[in-house]
Amino acid sequence: MNVSEHITHSAEETIALGRQLASTLKHARLVLLRGDLGAGKTTLVKGIAEGFEAAKQDDVTSPTFTLVHLYPGPEINVYHVDLYRIDTQRELDTLGLDELLAEPGNLVLVEWGEKFPRFEKERDVEIRIERGGEQERRIIVTGA
Ligand code: ADP
Ligand code: MG
Repeated sequence: MNVSEHITHSAEETIALGRQLASTLKHARLVLLRGDLGAGKTTLVKGIAEGFEAAKQDDVTSPTFTLVHLYPGPEINVYHVDLYRIDTQRELDTLGLDELLAEPGNLVLVEWGEKFPRFEKERDVEIRIERGGEQERRIIVTGA
């Protein structure tokens, strides 16, 4: 399995990495974004959405309360999902993620997806973000 590792030193660098990663995610369907609160998962999505020309970085905000955001791009619809506040299968079902995953041309980026073992099995790509220092992040991409 393909693994790549990157170090960034600012949110801007992480956004730039996200823009680069977009091309490698073109054929992915489900991407799990892993890392603690404040690690930089949402920040990375800003870059990924820009890379797909689906949104400007400032228009990408955390779906913590809204749960699912859609950024429609010319080729790919980028969905950004945050399951931090979702604890039960019943709550999960209301989000309709299976329908999103079944639709060609959708890329579904999920924060806290590892709460549901099924997603760990089904993910095409895992992106793990680890905090080094205040600004340093180690970003490990598996499967792209
Ligand atoms: P998460 O979605 O993982 O909870 P966010 O992306 O919302 O995290 O927040 C990351 C925070 O860390 C932001 O305030 C961002 O400015 C800051 N930050 C500092 N350095 C970095 C870096 N190298 N990469 C990403 N974010 C960083
Ligand atoms: Mg987030």
